[in-house]
Amino acid sequence: MCIAFLKRAIFLSFVSCLCWASVGSAGAEIVARDIRIGVHKSKTRVVLDLTTNVKFTIFALADPYRIVLDLPDIRWQVPAAAARRNGGLIAGLRYGQYQPGKSRVVLDLRAPGTVGKSFMLPPGEGYGPRLVIDIKNVSRKAFLASIRPPAKKVPRATQKIVLKPTRKPAERPLVVIDPGHGGVDPGAIGISGIFEKRVTLAMARQVGKAIQALGRQRVRLTRNRDIFIPLRRRVAIARAAGAELFVSIHADSIANRRVRGGGIYTLSENSSDKEAAALAAKENRADLIAGVNLSGHDDEVASILIDLTQRETMNYSAQFAAALVPELRQLIQMRRKPHRFAGFVVLKAPDVPSVLIELGYLSNRRDEKMLTSPRSRAAIAKAIARSVDNYFRVQKR
Ligand SMILES: [Zn+2]
Repeated sequence: MCIAFLKRAIFLSFVSCLCWASVGSAGAEIVARDIRIGVHKSKTRVVLDLTTNVKFTIFALADPYRIVLDLPDIRWQVPAAAARRNGGLIAGLRYGQYQPGKSRVVLDLRAPGTVGKSFMLPPGEGYGPRLVIDIKNVSRKAFLASIRPPAKKVPRATQKIVLKPTRKPAERPLVVIDPGHGGVDPGAIGISGIFEKRVTLAMARQVGKAIQALGRQRVRLTRNRDIFIPLRRRVAIARAAGAELFVSIHADSIANRRVRGGGIYTLSENSSDKEAAALAAKENRADLIAGVNLSGHDDEVASILIDLTQRETMNYSAQFAAALVPELRQLIQMRRKPHRFAGFVVLKAPDVPSVLIELGYLSNRRDEKMLTSPRSRAAIAKAIARSVDNYFRVQKR
């Protein structure tokens, strides 16, 4: 077994790290069977049950305290209950694909903690190879000292705002559909254990098909598989592709299981109400949830001044939202105020009208049933496609 210090990973440029490598059999598919937590007096132990030894890197992030475990491509065959496990220093955990060829586990800590030991345990006691991480409670000072300072901000002057390409006259307008969450960020967890990221992807694919069937717009998805994409990257994908409409698809969850209904959200400087502001804050946490270190990023999108272009874009977004409400209302129960405003990061393209649809609550049995039924999904997708078509028809006039 060899131990290597890996210096090259991009993330390690601004994080502290314990980097142990244990060489596994090359080429074989790696399957994760479970993630377990053991609470001991002096440490919290996290065990990942695997089918082979793996190379891994670990780093920590502050505010909130997180420990991130980066792994090679892994097939996740863990029980549904694994996503809800917690105990000791671990407040919650997530796992999934982070980038092509790279999987990630994010551990949310209740208090500052550092990794004391991390190692591969050979098969035994009825288990296969196990990756073991021992986390011990430390002071905030010690935690911060274990993390290298974040990378320097890029000076504003060197940043260019990429201009969105314009469409050739003969080309059909492009609609970018954005399935919310993905990979290591599961989004909301449904009453049956289904992840929002699966519901949004299935719905986005269906919406894409429905738009193509009408044949008057082109479609692109920000993701077409179970992979994590940072919020700003989703905006960048839409702009780089020359999108003329951006539709982000989500489903919410809430402690009160009786709450149900869909809602449509567009960007504004001031939220329309507290609930919309809370929802935006929740959705804007996606990057944090996936263990992205935001401290080194310059908030390019957020800092773009809301100028005339953006105001016009916001008006178009509101027009599309208004077109959506009556179409969706025929199929899904809508919230009391169906169109609301808040500062969603994913809606911040200055020149692409953007709308976020919350299709319903996965924490409500009826909403979850509706959103997981292929039949009702197809009907909702057609309604969204009709609204898209109506929106472009009005624009042409
Ligand atoms: Zn969501």
